[in-house]
Amino acid sequence: MGLALELVLKVTEVCNINCSYCYFFNGPDKSFQAHPKLMSLRTAGGVADYIRRAAGETQLDAVRLVLHGGEPLMLGKRRFTELCERLHIGDCAARTGLSVQTNAMLVDDEWIEIFARFGIDVGVSVDGPADYHDAFRVDHRGRGTHARTAAGVRRLREARDAGRLKSLGAICVVDPTRDARRVYRHIVDELGFRTVAFNFPDADWGNTAPETVARMGDFLGAALEEWLSDDDPSIAVRPFTGMLAFARAPGLAAWRALGETLVLGVASDGSLAPDDSYRMTMPDVFRPDAAALTVWNSELGDFRTRYGDGPLPGLSASKPGVCTACAWSAHCRSGEGAHRYDPAGHAWRETVYCEALKRVYARLRAYVVENGGAEPAAMAACA
Ligand code: SF4
Repeated sequence: MGLALELVLKVTEVCNINCSYCYFFNGPDKSFQAHPKLMSLRTAGGVADYIRRAAGETQLDAVRLVLHGGEPLMLGKRRFTELCERLHIGDCAARTGLSVQTNAMLVDDEWIEIFARFGIDVGVSVDGPADYHDAFRVDHRGRGTHARTAAGVRRLREARDAGRLKSLGAICVVDPTRDARRVYRHIVDELGFRTVAFNFPDADWGNTAPETVARMGDFLGAALEEWLSDDDPSIAVRPFTGMLAFARAPGLAAWRALGETLVLGVASDGSLAPDDSYRMTMPDVFRPDAAALTVWNSELGDFRTRYGDGPLPGLSASKPGVCTACAWSAHCRSGEGAHRYDPAGHAWRETVYCEALKRVYARLRAYVVENGGAEPAAMAACA
């Protein structure tokens, strides 16, 4: 089995809004101040060449390029189009995909044509109904952005329903103090998304109280009940869809042999860094550095040597004892790297959200059994 590569490209390091929780502009890492506001076409060409060299170096099963920012649509339509052309890696043997992550406020029909032309998967950042969304996602004058995002979503949804758009999904940053039912129903019923991802706030063992984890468990549990009650296979929710598939068939070899996905961040100047989830936890890793790896001066092997295991050594090798005994471990894999960090001793533990995840897994196990599925012995033994 080869490697799946995901490159998160900071095609803009500027944004048309100013979310208060933004890890990129309002977090401890200020590397954006030293980078160009827009990625150049030369850098985009360097990214494409880097991937071609990587494909010669190792077996790549899949390559996904995520056009990210900041707000990627601030590139403007012409530059965005030229950039997509430069990023074309059709000569690479791996499956390739192009995504964009946007707040959708600038979306109009011409943008939709561009997304359609390049087969771009569109992800929209939306945190729930207006009162929730606007508490954090504000513009540079402090005004809420929900109405403008919802207008963009309407256009995108019409394009999706007309078959013009390849895919459309929502990414929702969870605020565990909110009413999960309202968040879920708004995103699915009112905005019309059929693909939803709940992103956990970037947190680690150094800054997360047990009460926050308990509230996260409550939030996920309530959102899960909404999803289960919909009983609609056309609605995919991350992380629930994958967890349910695992609860139904935990013995499948596919889970034991889950392939490796390596995520690389590419700044607008072509420098390489670990994925964004580490920006809050380890901002120093992102500091502009004369010894930085770039798409021109390095190969994929250099990145794997420096970061492939996470910004600190030992991440993939360290399976905490609590996970060794856990029935969900083949799927969970101890959680996301940044959430596993314990600053006391610079150690990797199980994810700080472990107890919240266990609640979801346990509910899904019960759901499978209630619906006539078999309960594997290993899972029945796990509380
Ligand atoms: S649910 Fe918790 S104990 Fe189980 S694998 Fe995940 S992090 Fe480890």
